[in-house]
Amino acid sequence: MLVRLRQGLASPELDPLLALCEELGYSARFLDEGRRLLELSGCGDRTHRTRLEDHPDVVEVVDAGDSHELHAQADGRQDTVVRVGDAAFGGGHVAIAAGPCSVEDYDRLLRLALGVQECGVSILRAGAFKPRTSPYSFQGLGVVGLEMLAAVRAETGISIVTEVLDPREVERVAEVADWIQIGTRSSTNFPLLTEVGRAGKPILLKRGFGATVREFLLSAEYVLDTGNEEVVLCERGVRGFDSTTRNVLDVGAVAHLRTATHLPVIVDPSHAAGRADLVRPLARAGLAAGADGLIVEVHDDPSSAKSDGEQAISLEELGALTRDAQDLVSLDGRVLSMESDRSAPHTSSAKEPIQ
Ligand code: PEP
Ligand code: MN
Repeated sequence: MLVRLRQGLASPELDPLLALCEELGYSARFLDEGRRLLELSGCGDRTHRTRLEDHPDVVEVVDAGDSHELHAQADGRQDTVVRVGDAAFGGGHVAIAAGPCSVEDYDRLLRLALGVQECGVSILRAGAFKPRTSPYSFQGLGVVGLEMLAAVRAETGISIVTEVLDPREVERVAEVADWIQIGTRSSTNFPLLTEVGRAGKPILLKRGFGATVREFLLSAEYVLDTGNEEVVLCERGVRGFDSTTRNVLDVGAVAHLRTATHLPVIVDPSHAAGRADLVRPLARAGLAAGADGLIVEVHDDPSSAKSDGEQAISLEELGALTRDAQDLVSLDGRVLSMESDRSAPHTSSAKEPIQ
């Protein structure tokens, strides 16, 4: 482990820190004359990184070495591939999820599921439990919405990603979802992260809109620490000072995360843009920065949508976006998971991914 210390610490002042390192089982040596870079050898317990970060003489842990956390990429480690139905994220695999912000009614959900499948997308997104800023906004259909998702899944064979808000609902959501979403507002609900980690399903973890990249990764760490390695990180924009876009899509974070973690990283251009006309360019930017996939809001009548209508693209636009994605990922030798062309759209038979 490599630790950077505060400037100007005299020898006796360093004694408590050095004693702590010894107590934790490390042998310590300074790498520089100024005694600011401290190399620690031995041990390798994950709890030590934050223990040292919390020490008043430590500015930062530059390299966690053998004490690296579960999300961290390490020399020679393969990227984690997370599979959701026929789709795969990470390790050169790219996939798209699309659908309405909320489950609204059965007929619309079925229509949109068939529509996104026609575009080559095999994962339907739609919230039954909606985390709304105002308690007076539409809160989602709840359990009734979950039942609609289950029915559409059975009818079409499409995979489902949907959000859970409450640790008490995790089991119920896990019965329907192929992939469980933790939204931006829940990303620091640590009991929820632990509970969802134990659900035995892949997790879609969105970045908190005010979270640093480090905080985002530590949220993922709560899930990973339960033994669930199937975590997909989602950059969905962070809050900025300018209301031109709803959030600021942090493509720098996407590029950084692709090398800092072995976990797949996807982009949600819809909540970043907040405007349908910017969804396609932000999706392209995300993929160009290395994102392993996209999650996109789609609606067939945005003006009547119960939530987020202003950022919903049409099915035609989803088709164009999917073709963009195929072109972009092929540039660096990656593969886009696609729903196979289906001659009988209403059957739920097994599907071959197009390579
Ligand atoms: C959503 O996916 O509809 C949603 C509420 O997303 P976020 O948590 O990123 O705001
Ligand atoms: Mn939404």
